[in-house]
Amino acid sequence: MTSSFPASTVLGYPRIGPDRELKRALESYWEGRTSREDLESTARRLREDTWRRLAALGLEGLPSNTFSYYDQVLDTAVLLGAVPARYRQDDDLATYFAMARGAEGSPPLRMTKWFDTNYHYIVPEIGPETVFSLDAGKPLAEVREARALGLETRPVVVGPVTFLLLAQAAPASPGGFAPLDRLDDVVEVYARLLAELAAEGVAWVQLDEPALVADRTPAELAAVEAAYGRLGRLENRPALLVASYFGDLGDALPVLAATPVEAVALDLVRGTANGADALAGKTVVAGVVSGRDVWRTGRDRALATLLAVRERAGRVAVGTSCSLLHVPYDVERETGLDPALRERLAFAEQKVAEVVELAGLLAAAPVGHAPGRHVPGQPEVQGRAHASGDRTAKGRAPYPVRAAAQAEHLKLPLLPVTTIGSFPQTGELRRARAALAAGEIAEAAYEGVVRAEIERVIALQERLGLDVLVHGEPERNDMVQYFAEHLDGFAVTRHGWVQSYGSRCTRPPILHGDVRRPEPITVRWARYAQSLTSKPVKGMLTGPVTIVAWSFVRDDLPLREVVFQVADAVREEVGDLEEAGIRVIQVDEPALRELVPLRRAEQDAYLEWAVAAYRWATSGASERTQIHTHLCYSDADQILAAIDGLDADVTSIESARSRGRLLGAVGDFSRGLGPGVYDIHSPRVPDADEVEGLLTEALRAVPAERLWVNPDCGLKTRSYEQVEAALAGVVEAAARLRARH
Ligand code: GLN
Ligand code: ZN
Repeated sequence: MTSSFPASTVLGYPRIGPDRELKRALESYWEGRTSREDLESTARRLREDTWRRLAALGLEGLPSNTFSYYDQVLDTAVLLGAVPARYRQDDDLATYFAMARGAEGSPPLRMTKWFDTNYHYIVPEIGPETVFSLDAGKPLAEVREARALGLETRPVVVGPVTFLLLAQAAPASPGGFAPLDRLDDVVEVYARLLAELAAEGVAWVQLDEPALVADRTPAELAAVEAAYGRLGRLENRPALLVASYFGDLGDALPVLAATPVEAVALDLVRGTANGADALAGKTVVAGVVSGRDVWRTGRDRALATLLAVRERAGRVAVGTSCSLLHVPYDVERETGLDPALRERLAFAEQKVAEVVELAGLLAAAPVGHAPGRHVPGQPEVQGRAHASGDRTAKGRAPYPVRAAAQAEHLKLPLLPVTTIGSFPQTGELRRARAALAAGEIAEAAYEGVVRAEIERVIALQERLGLDVLVHGEPERNDMVQYFAEHLDGFAVTRHGWVQSYGSRCTRPPILHGDVRRPEPITVRWARYAQSLTSKPVKGMLTGPVTIVAWSFVRDDLPLREVVFQVADAVREEVGDLEEAGIRVIQVDEPALRELVPLRRAEQDAYLEWAVAAYRWATSGASERTQIHTHLCYSDADQILAAIDGLDADVTSIESARSRGRLLGAVGDFSRGLGPGVYDIHSPRVPDADEVEGLLTEALRAVPAERLWVNPDCGLKTRSYEQVEAALAGVVEAAARLRARH
């Protein structure tokens, strides 16, 4: 007989450590400075601290197996034995990190964004020959660890359908093979896992199936039915919670409802409880506390939702909308924030307290006193008086007109060589920035360091012979945070780190009020750089969608209104750069794809306003000013029409991992295009022959008059030594091809 589900829970918790302890432990282990034991003891302490803290906050349902040395999808691949042979090593941890980070001769597995978040997972590789085998060591060890503290936990594992939908076909798989073809085999391994966990005395297991909130084909829904039918009918198993998040289950809800699983988690922040009737007889884990934002939960509304769900489904537990992985640990540490703002904020700790409080209120509310059958949706967000509608861009002159004006104004050679913006961020720069923040050096001294770096970057580019130069972005800690620090309406945190991938974290700014640009932001640096050279220096801005995508955003205005406010600020900056004599301006939009809604029905509307906001930000520029944009992800080809719609004069796109597809898809692309020819994610330095080969290939898809020559992305993470050698090869390759045209 199954035990009832705890009254309060979270679907997952941050794991990098309140002071990024895991990041430091991982990086020193990778560098060989510390031992495996050191790493393991840090990890154990982080897990134990988390469970103790959650229990102390009064949370009843504690998750386990939410810790990871790198990524939970990678953990699941290891759990299922899906380890490609080329990564196997004697030491299990070495094998694990080889998949994540690459090893001698084997580049790492691909990494991509986790749904519409800024978290990246490792893409498993599954082929027809993959031999699955259970390796339950990690979840079992975590259950035992918590138990040693006197705490029972619910292991969390990525579910079989989502795991296979996120996987890619192993190289050399026959055409038509899809990882989901292996469902039956994989489900058998899950069955064995459940048996082992049952034998360990585990009462509940959580299987995460966020893939079910996107559009799914009948065959995929049949896979859900098959998987959970099979697992549900097992005799010897813990009770099952299937967790959905990031949206509504839609067609998958009745399918799951018909399986014997005992509980389903619903995201009631992004989705609604409209189908909850179908779950009568099961427990609904009602995700009313958002795991995706940093705002306090509206208590009355959340309680009303909980009561309505209880009315419909019967058994309800209070939970978070998704794992708290996507928010920082504790807002109480942000003593530098305006107290009025801090009052409005909740990070992971505060969200746990909210879940506990709501569970108490729900328990105290008499059954049958729901506020009617209507389940409240999200608050109607009111647009402001001046909605985005009145910022319709008149549009710039047609491209041929602009191209002619720019050719006249810029006098660039064929196949112009440029970079994406940043140059290596040296230790000296980082130290100077830290010293400035700590008040150890004066503003003027810091600016001297920045100016010296700009001089170095300009001199280097002139010496190497690039055609459109950049100032190198030495003044920026980060391409979003830098702008947030200079715009009204944003706050930045001190400790608000969120895992992005592996040991990498970002500190998203908090966009909490109306965005305004009090004064020009980048102009003086661009002007200084331009004063050092007669070649055009490219002004460098982050686009409105990316600034918003990589921030925590207010929820009292529609997202598009917020994006248009930021677009206003970017538009003003573009105007000021032009006035300062900057002839080329790049507005990066690497996050354009990230905000694409998971449901197809919503995608066109998003792309339409996102593109309109970009055009609003850039279309004030005169026709002779050349607007560049840059995007970096390996599947840019999937939104190429929208990228084309940005109407930038030149678009640079990362292409190291998707050259073939990208070049195959650019046929309709009508303006300047720079498919990256130097993979900046790798310390490898390509030589001129290699770059020449890539350019020759690109010339088959893009006419020479429109082809640009540039690296894949910014050079900030590389060393000057690598950058200098690589760019020398790039310039030489462009020169050879020019001579032939
Ligand atoms: N201009 C930025 C840079 O070069 C672009 C970074 C990005 O695309 N992620 O660093
Ligand atoms: Zn990039």
